[in-house]
Amino acid sequence: MKKYNSLIEIQTLLHSKALLLPDLLDYYFAQIEKNKDLNAFNEVFFDSAKTQAKQVQEKINKGIAGKLAGLVIGIKDNICYQGHQVSASSKMLENFVSPYSATVVQRLLQEDAIIIGRCNCDEFAMGGSNETSFYGAVKNAANPQRVSGGSSGGSAVAVQADMCLASLGTDTGGSVRQPAAFCGVIGLKPSYGRISRYGVIAYASSFDQVGTFTSSISDAALLLEVLAGADEFDSTVASLPVQNYTQNLQDTSKKKIAVLKETIENEALDAEIKSSILQTIEKLKAQGHTVDYVDFDLLDYLVPTYYVLTTAEASSNLSRYDGVHYGHRNLEAKNLNDLYKTSRAEGFGEEVKRRILVGTFVLSAGYYDAYYQKAQKVRRMIKDKMDSIFQEYDFVLSPVAPTVAFPIGEHEKDPIKSYLADIYTVLANLAGIPAISLPIGTDHQNLPLGIQLMANSFQEQALLAFAKNIS
Ligand code: GLN
Repeated sequence: MKKYNSLIEIQTLLHSKALLLPDLLDYYFAQIEKNKDLNAFNEVFFDSAKTQAKQVQEKINKGIAGKLAGLVIGIKDNICYQGHQVSASSKMLENFVSPYSATVVQRLLQEDAIIIGRCNCDEFAMGGSNETSFYGAVKNAANPQRVSGGSSGGSAVAVQADMCLASLGTDTGGSVRQPAAFCGVIGLKPSYGRISRYGVIAYASSFDQVGTFTSSISDAALLLEVLAGADEFDSTVASLPVQNYTQNLQDTSKKKIAVLKETIENEALDAEIKSSILQTIEKLKAQGHTVDYVDFDLLDYLVPTYYVLTTAEASSNLSRYDGVHYGHRNLEAKNLNDLYKTSRAEGFGEEVKRRILVGTFVLSAGYYDAYYQKAQKVRRMIKDKMDSIFQEYDFVLSPVAPTVAFPIGEHEKDPIKSYLADIYTVLANLAGIPAISLPIGTDHQNLPLGIQLMANSFQEQALLAFAKNIS
């Protein structure tokens, strides 16, 4: 079977009966088996996916199938699917079975997507290389010595190596866009509040957002159309109407694009990424769009602000894993205090513990004003700055990451190095705006290169339509 790049191709074949859904599913199972050394899946849902394939095929035969019929999708292992294990790639949640489904899962199933399995990720989505996973690193299909990126590394590689047509990830500070760039696929992070977080294991609740990995813009648009919109279980979801993203992908009007000067004129930026971005800028200008360089003097504040606020939120969110409610429990503990301490010490990995400690510190009396509150103020300044840029410009263009996929192990001993690598992605989460990572070729080692496009809040439709000019 050949690689399909969009659901439209698959649906055409399904409707003409040139392709049967159970056969398509078998193809993806075979791809997963063939690529199992890449470690993209923590579990393949053989039984439920096969049952679904049969049911959806019957619906197709009767002409009553949903919008996503024919879509075989992987979900990041921090998204709950009723009756299936969900671990956040942590020992803490080993063997935990979810009693309910996330809203995003429900919406996928309602439209007849087939969920093929849960994808490996950094532990509790904390990381940028998938190396903090309790289940080991995910390898990049372009070069298995290299990282997949993270934290949704398994989701990215699953699409890259054609183990499923699309996948879901979550993006708190770049976890969809950076692995998408490292793997040469399309990664969309919608605006904060566009998609429900209900049933998504929380990392930093004022940043977390579900995003998609696809090989086509049309699939990104279709998934967003299905997943977005109000949800009675998540009060942070906007009640704004969901647009017909797929119907409006043609836009030939001329746009104004801002390039944040400091993101390009940056010594940390890989030379080949820089030159391919400059080429893209020339291409856009040749198409008649306006591209201006604008000052962005807040660049150095992004990473510190992000890490103060997200660790604070994480320390609070992760307090629920106490060995009592659910998750790993130390059975030898002699008293309650001991139970908490030993269960948490054994269940969490090193990076998660580091973040809980930092988060507890920045929230503690005496440091709250100096760190947490200050970071909240800086977040507001960042948001204001982006608002003022979007008064004049339609989009902001920047790199996704300073480097291409780096060798496995390179960041292991130096957490600061990995935090600094988030410099270009955390901006969209701090400001709550939508952003997309688009593949723009490969470097001299054949490693994928990416570019990032951001838009003002809830401008996903314009973003997707414009992205078609680049990808
Ligand atoms: N790399 C970032 C971090 O480690 C982003 C993670 C994410 O978006 N989940 O926090």
